[in-house]
Amino acid sequence: MADVLVVGAGVGGLAAAVVLAARGLNVEVLEAADRPGGKLGIGIVDGTEFDTGPSVLTLPVVLDRIFRLVGTSLEDELELRAAAPAFRYLYPDGVALDIYPDLPRTLGSVEQTLGGAAAREMEAFLAYGRRIWEAAAPHFVFGPAPSPASLMQVGLSGVKLLGRIDPLRGMWSVIRRRVRSQHLRMLFARYATYNGSDPRTAPATLNCIAHVELALGGYGVKGGMYEITRALVRVAERLGVRLHYGARVTRITVEGGGVAAVETADGARWRTGAVIANADVAQVFGELIPGTERGGAAAAGAPSMSGWTGILRARRREGPQARVAHTVLFPTDYLEEFRDIFDRNRPPQEPTVYLCAQEVCHGRSGWAEHEPIFLMANAPAEPGSDATPEHVWDALGAGVLDRLHGAGLCAADDLLVWERTPTQLARQFPGSRGSIYGAASNSPLAAFRRPANRVRGVGGLYLASGSAHPGGGMPLCLLSGCAAAQALLSDRGMQPLETEWE
Ligand SMILES: Cc1cc2nc3c(=O)[nH]c(=O)nc-3n(C[C@H](O)[C@H](O)[C@H](O)COP(=O)(O)OP(=O)(O)OC[C@H]3O[C@@H](n4cnc5c(N)ncnc54)[C@H](O)[C@@H]3O)c2cc1C
Repeated sequence: MADVLVVGAGVGGLAAAVVLAARGLNVEVLEAADRPGGKLGIGIVDGTEFDTGPSVLTLPVVLDRIFRLVGTSLEDELELRAAAPAFRYLYPDGVALDIYPDLPRTLGSVEQTLGGAAAREMEAFLAYGRRIWEAAAPHFVFGPAPSPASLMQVGLSGVKLLGRIDPLRGMWSVIRRRVRSQHLRMLFARYATYNGSDPRTAPATLNCIAHVELALGGYGVKGGMYEITRALVRVAERLGVRLHYGARVTRITVEGGGVAAVETADGARWRTGAVIANADVAQVFGELIPGTERGGAAAAGAPSMSGWTGILRARRREGPQARVAHTVLFPTDYLEEFRDIFDRNRPPQEPTVYLCAQEVCHGRSGWAEHEPIFLMANAPAEPGSDATPEHVWDALGAGVLDRLHGAGLCAADDLLVWERTPTQLARQFPGSRGSIYGAASNSPLAAFRRPANRVRGVGGLYLASGSAHPGGGMPLCLLSGCAAAQALLSDRGMQPLETEWE
């Protein structure tokens, strides 16, 4: 009998496990896959390991605070890297704009490439993004799930708060109003994709993401992003958490209004008084709890974007040809990508291509003469019913490679050695429909509709994942785990966590 069973060893589940074990609870983690990490995962080809999920860590402070709660620190567990240049944006008119890990250098680069007016626009836009972040983060990111009523109770009047966080205007319409440079407009709009949303309909609140990455920092991790998973597992195990792999949970049993046990695919029954579900919300309510089957999709909300991803085994480039950590190859008409994905429900005809050179970014080691380059193109989430035909993803993958060849970003003998389509992502993460960041934030009310971490009506059941509050992306999933753990501690009358996230 475990005090707490965590279903899933993604970052949200691992964060919850760490925090609860640090409070002295007996925690077991049941993970369906044969290794931890979930979307923060790896692949291995010919002995070379590469990251298959995230490539940028923002808000490392969140990870640090979690580690500090349990007597260690980010510095003790991981080495962050800040490659310079960090990003190279390649535009259809031939402009190449480099972005650096520190803002003054970035502004200098913008001035040199796009002119002084563009640099001033970027500075002003980031100041606007900072104001949104400072007003919104305590209520929508670091605190428990918000409601319109909870916002009215805050010291700052609700109306003033609304004005600052700018939820009623669209992200793109504000970008257009504040920024004249076409190049910067595309760069800022791309931040909608950091939670899989559409810049045309996402609230302008998401303009704070530009501030989070460009001013607060986006990092690589020495050895690869998977070191984050390894560090969380290491710390959890140090605290006595037991992790079980190949343990797919098939049912969460509810008795007398509260969770009583979970069952795994091998027929085992694990008794417990509390479950933290790191699995997607749609799976929890659509499959795992009898009687809630029809609530799954509704609880999860409209999915955020999916993505076609691949690993290119690319000849290592040196000198002036050497790759930068992250490259973004923009299409001729960036908004057309979102029309394709969200209005026409099809892959972009001319996809934006994102590349992460994992040796440069994370200091990973590749093959003898080749380096692993992570490729990604945005794509619609899978339809709820039939899977998308494979030829659709084949065409998207071929389109990505064509664009890379056209831009001179890969050589004729570079090889695609690994790929994952949205259909495969959807199979790997049941209930997700292949969406990467849980529900999309394509309406001003999205933050209020996201499921809270404490499940009403089922005692002892908590949600900790990108499909629950506060949403997707590693730092938010870590916070989701902490918020779920916090709710559990408070329900048991135990001392809550005391931490200042910001
Ligand atoms: C291609 C890609 C690129 C990304 N880029 C970034 C980035 O640059 N920066 C960033 O911050 N974020 C990025 N993300 C998003 C980030 O990876 C996710 O938001 C985060 O890792 C999700 O964590 P989670 O806690 O929701 O758990 P998940 O990763 O969804 O893991 C859930 C776990 O639960 C397990 N599970 C599910 N059902 C069951 C069951 N029934 N029984 C037992 N176990 C079960 C799964 O196997 C899985 O291990 C990216 C994701 C992808 C896929």
